[in-house]
Amino acid sequence: MTTPRPVCLITGASAGIGAACAALAAERGYDLLLTYRSDMAGAEAVKARAEAVGARVVLVQADVAEPDAIDRIYATLDAEFGCIDALINNAGAIDTIARLTDMDHARLTRIFAVNVIGAMLVAKGAVQRMEAQGDGGNIVNISSAAARLGSGGQFVDYAATKGAIDTFTKGLSDEVAPNGIRVNAVRPGIIETDIHGKAGAAERVDTLGPMTPMRRSGSAQEVATSVLYLMSDDASYITGAFLDVSGGR
Ligand code: NAP
Repeated sequence: MTTPRPVCLITGASAGIGAACAALAAERGYDLLLTYRSDMAGAEAVKARAEAVGARVVLVQADVAEPDAIDRIYATLDAEFGCIDALINNAGAIDTIARLTDMDHARLTRIFAVNVIGAMLVAKGAVQRMEAQGDGGNIVNISSAAARLGSGGQFVDYAATKGAIDTFTKGLSDEVAPNGIRVNAVRPGIIETDIHGKAGAAERVDTLGPMTPMRRSGSAQEVATSVLYLMSDDASYITGAFLDVSGGR
């Protein structure tokens, strides 16, 4: 009899850090439910790569700012896999560089809906299922070094959402630790993904990377290895922790 592969849900897995986590999780033996918002081709490529190393992969299109979309993620997970062992709460967005005085209500509402409320509702669905299963579980929230740095003059809204994720990580980890569910966060620094271009500042990687103590930007793969470490048994006594993957920044 073969042991069933553990199941990992990764939000925002069509590109960047989520895609790197999907590839590594597949190599480490997970089956995957991967979500994407708009980049179906990217998601299909990530799926094919994970399947090539033996993972079963199901894709769901979902904007995590929409509660109905989160319900759809979990309806698919329940129908296709019937269990969840790990969640990589990764989907996140950033707006263009601006000062607070140029940010309106719509912008702030949108970024908090995606990065905070969406992440909390996705975590809620995972906790409900992990507690019902009674066998523990792992949640890794993708925060940001911006939570510590504040991103003044650039994206104080984005930084504030990641500060909220850090507080949420600590609170939720305390709440569910007695049930064997570990909740940790990774705080990436300047990582080579398309998120900077989406903010209209693709040059950030080249300009800010060399200014870090390690004098370079990081790769999505370097973030993924830290995420998978926190999910592994090597991190069995770690919960409510924040792992900075930021070259010392
Ligand atoms: P990315 O390359 O832009 O990828 C973002 C992923 O999130 C994509 O799969 C995207 O889907 C998805 N996404 C965006 N908005 C979404 C929404 N409303 N609902 C559902 N999915 C959504 O960005 P990344 O750099 O990999 O970022 C991943 C995480 O790392 C984010 O939480 C980000 O804040 C964090 N982070 C990144 C850095 C960095 O330097 N790269 C640093 C610190 C923290 P589609 O493309 O399909 O729309």
